[in-house]
Amino acid sequence: MTPIRVAFLGPPGAGKGTQAARLAQQHGIPRISTGDILRHAVHARTDIGCLAKRTLDRGELVADDVVMRIVSERLSRADARRGFVLDGFPRTVEQAAGLEQLMVDRDGLIAIEIVVGESELIRRLSNRMVCRDCGNAADAGVLTCHVCAGPLTQRTDDIESVVLERLALYRRVTAPLTEFYRSRGQLYPVDGGRACDRVEADINAFIQRRFAFRAAESASEGSESIGV
Ligand code: ADP
Ligand code: ZN
Repeated sequence: MTPIRVAFLGPPGAGKGTQAARLAQQHGIPRISTGDILRHAVHARTDIGCLAKRTLDRGELVADDVVMRIVSERLSRADARRGFVLDGFPRTVEQAAGLEQLMVDRDGLIAIEIVVGESELIRRLSNRMVCRDCGNAADAGVLTCHVCAGPLTQRTDDIESVVLERLALYRRVTAPLTEFYRSRGQLYPVDGGRACDRVEADINAFIQRRFAFRAAESASEGSESIGV
C-alpha cells in the first residue's frame, strides 16, 4: 500500500478539520493539526504555548520555525510512517518548502484545497461552536461534543473582527500555496460549499484513484507522471 500523505489547504471555516479527521480515521493514520497542537500547548501552558497565546488570539501566524519544529517532531513518530493527514499546515511558502525537506525520503505529498466563498466562510465561523477539550466542530443544535462529550465554546479567534483578519491573512500569505502545489502537479481542488458528506465522497473518490494509480505505478516501476 502506498502511504497516504495529504495536506489540507483552504481558508478558516472551509471544513479542513472535519474532512481531515474523516480521512485520517478511514485509513487509520494520524491527523496532524498544527492549530490543535498549538491550542493544547496554550491550555497546558508549555513554553511554546505561552509564546503562542497572543498570536493565536489575534489570528496571526505563529513563527515558521516554531511550527516547523512541532511538525518535524510529530512526523518523526512511528504512527506517521504509514501516512498522515496534515490540517492547517503548511500555511506559508516557507513551511511548504520546509515540509519538502522533511519529506526527501518519502513519496510526494498531495495538497487538497477546499474552496469556499468568503461570505459563506464568515457566516460559518461566526456561528461556529467547538469542543473545548478536543477542538471538534460541534453539530448544529447540540450541547456537548459528539466525540468526547466535552463542553462547547466559541474559539477566541472566531469573533468577527479576528475572523476578518484571519481571512485577509489567508488571502495574502496562504492562498499562494495553491500555486506552489499546482505547478508541481500536486494540487487537487474540491468545492467545499456543498454538504460535508458530498465533499467527503469527492475526496474519497480522488484518493482511491490517485493512490491506486500510484500503487500500480510503483509495482511496474512506472514513470513520474501525475494522476491528478
Ligand atoms: P483555522 O484554519 O480555522 O484558522 P487552525 O486551528 O488551523 O484554524 O489554526 C488556529 C491558529 O493557530 C492560527 O490562526 C495560527 O495562529 C495558528 N497556526 C496554526 N497552524 C499554523 C501554521 N501552520 N503556521 C502558523 N500558525 C499556525
Ligand atoms: Zn470533544
